[in-house]
Amino acid sequence: MPPTTEPDITRYSYDVVVIGAGGAGLRAAIAAREQGKRTAVISKSLFGKAHTVMAEGGAAAALGNANADDTWTVHFRDTIRGGKFLNDPRMAELHAREAPERILELEYWGALFDRTPDGRISQRNFGGHEYPRLAHVGDRTGLEMIRTLQQRIVALQQADAAETGDPDAMLRVFAETAVTELVTDASGAVAGAFGYRRADGGFVLFEAPAVVLATGGIGKAFRTTSNSWEYTGDGHALALRAGAGLINMEFVQFHPTGMVWPPSVKGILVTESVRGDGGVLRNSEGRRFMFDYVPDVFRAQYAESEEEADGWYTDPSGHRRPPELLPRDEVARAINSEVKAGRGSPHGGVFLDVSTRMPAEEIRRRLPSMHHQFKELADVDITAEPMEVGPTCHYVMGGVRVDADTAASDVPGLFAAGEVAGGMHGSNRLGGNSLSDLLVFGRRAGLGAAAYVDGLDARAPGEVLDEAASRAVSAALALLKQGDGENPYTLHGELQDTMNDLVGIIRREGEMERALSRLDEMVQRARLLSAPGERVYNPGWHLALALPNMLLVSRAITRAALERTESRGGHTRDDHPDMSPEWRRVNLEVRVGRDGDVELSRRPVADIPAGLLSGFGNDELAKYLTKEELPQEVAAEAAREPGGTAPASADAEPGAVGGEGPGEVPGEGPGTAAASTGTVDTAEEAGGTSERVASGRPGGPDGVEGADGTDGADDRNGTGDTDGSTEEDRS
Ligand SMILES: Cc1cc2nc3c(=O)[nH]c(=O)nc-3n(C[C@H](O)[C@H](O)[C@H](O)COP(=O)(O)OP(=O)(O)OC[C@H]3O[C@@H](n4cnc5c(N)ncnc54)[C@H](O)[C@@H]3O)c2cc1C
Repeated sequence: MPPTTEPDITRYSYDVVVIGAGGAGLRAAIAAREQGKRTAVISKSLFGKAHTVMAEGGAAAALGNANADDTWTVHFRDTIRGGKFLNDPRMAELHAREAPERILELEYWGALFDRTPDGRISQRNFGGHEYPRLAHVGDRTGLEMIRTLQQRIVALQQADAAETGDPDAMLRVFAETAVTELVTDASGAVAGAFGYRRADGGFVLFEAPAVVLATGGIGKAFRTTSNSWEYTGDGHALALRAGAGLINMEFVQFHPTGMVWPPSVKGILVTESVRGDGGVLRNSEGRRFMFDYVPDVFRAQYAESEEEADGWYTDPSGHRRPPELLPRDEVARAINSEVKAGRGSPHGGVFLDVSTRMPAEEIRRRLPSMHHQFKELADVDITAEPMEVGPTCHYVMGGVRVDADTAASDVPGLFAAGEVAGGMHGSNRLGGNSLSDLLVFGRRAGLGAAAYVDGLDARAPGEVLDEAASRAVSAALALLKQGDGENPYTLHGELQDTMNDLVGIIRREGEMERALSRLDEMVQRARLLSAPGERVYNPGWHLALALPNMLLVSRAITRAALERTESRGGHTRDDHPDMSPEWRRVNLEVRVGRDGDVELSRRPVADIPAGLLSGFGNDELAKYLTKEELPQEVAAEAAREPGGTAPASADAEPGAVGGEGPGEVPGEGPGTAAASTGTVDTAEEAGGTSERVASGRPGGPDGVEGADGTDGADDRNGTGDTDGSTEEDRS
């Protein structure tokens, strides 16, 4: 047993502590351990049961197995389109370039992906991806990913056991352990982390100069959500309190298809693979309404008739894609509009139908978990009748602002990867891009943390940890003693209703102001929470410890959403329905001020390198970019068109934060994105490398330079199965 500072606190010392054992955390831990660092992985849930196991459809990577035309540059372009040009371009580039290598590595470590008839990794269609791109394992891809990474960790531990006699010597997993505080030293650098064991309530203190946050998302702040119980925004809040900035918090993804009935299962995901494999959306009049909701920027790529859309499934090169496969934000808004117009299903959703699209046997084969899920939970046989579906809170695009190459935050020693990190997905994530993000940036975070530790001269003194630990212990124990305080479940319910009703899929200024004042009041009430009972597995106490995190994150979301007076991706303002090129240049950053409240500032969005910008069409660029940013000839062409250029939007006057307009973001001069040409769209055009964005980022650690992009191989068709299962099954 390691030494303790107080009778009740068990103390450990590591080089790198990874908080979170999902895809990002496990991949980070493997990378750090492989760099020779003593590494701890801490997880609220059991080892192997992180939220990632719920992932169904697959991991996006331009392997080119299902269509030889798929390359990393096409993947990059789809990702930027999906994120409505707000993505960190360096992250999107690294992700698209490295995802194929990470998938192949996973296969090398033992992942059993579904195969094409000739034995390569099968790839399936998903919304917003131009080609079939999702490597998958039936509809249980996340489970296979976690199983494989877990197996890799055990293999490393076995090697350590053979060498030292102790499997935990270099890499140890602390399951069912929740971190409640990050500790920083006087200089503001990371010194360690404090937490408790869920099973027995014992306290733990980790001394470590580098911490990787891989804690996932925030969905449990909303009433209707597809997310697991772990998603209480802990990592987002830990980062904020440690002094890091979060970006893009206004962008919360509402997946278009969650179950809407019965109430007990409302929000559980209905995988996008249902639509990828041929499912269609209909309203109460039986109409395939998505044809009415194709935005101008996507019109060239999506079918205009049912005949054309249906032809795409068998002949994708001769037809345009069905509009049911538009990016998620578009589909979610369309469903919302249909319901609002009175054309919804009996329980407030719309109909998703596969029963008329393929034989029952094929549905059972391709969508076994969906079939099971609806039969068991809603008594609906999807081979014979449509499902009722509606939007559900699914993913947060916002998170810790990190350096793309190293995953370092601006707090020395603090790194972040996976859903808790921001920037990669811009204003809207494409399906499948999370699982590949976890692998690409999980690895980079592990390498970044290891390189940081190598560069240190000294570690923080132990007293800073002891002091922080005793404060944290007192605060945690107080919750058990405050007998007449607020019930955490009541407060959590109110928070979920507030976020769902007032900061949900469609947002309005007045409603968000109401949400903020309710949140203010809830923050006060949360100071006197009461979770009577023992420390031994006390779920009320666990919730009471997590609630302040959800409240802080909810304030961050609401403040940023109120500030952004445009609609883009996962952020839809009823009172500002247009997308503004001026706002496209702005990331809103949230920090915690001295008074503990959230503060907003603006940061420029980095420019897309010219070589990659040239992959987009002129019309498209003219819709997203400001006049100053447009390549000269595009601007001239747009100006010649009747009505002038698209960029000037009715909303192009974002309200100022501290008097700062987007064009005046420090260090940001207009017009730096200039690309030279129009619509050339291939890897060759973009070249093997793109110029780095001039943002003063440090270079990555050795061995993490961008891998060569794949450029596709033979042409084959992807096949697909699919899934879904209950939260209980999956988490
Ligand atoms: C139903 C569903 C299906 C999905 N399908 C897909 C898909 O097909 N493809 C795709 O790309 N994406 C999919 N997603 C999204 C994707 O699954 C997630 O974005 C991704 O798994 C997040 O991984 P992560 O490693 O960031 O975090 P997670 O896998 O959530 O891991 C977070 C870890 O942090 C731990 N943790 C949290 N807080 C603390 C704390 N305070 N102390 C200690 N540990 C903590 C948790 O216990 C957990 O171990 C899906 C999401 C859902 C909900």
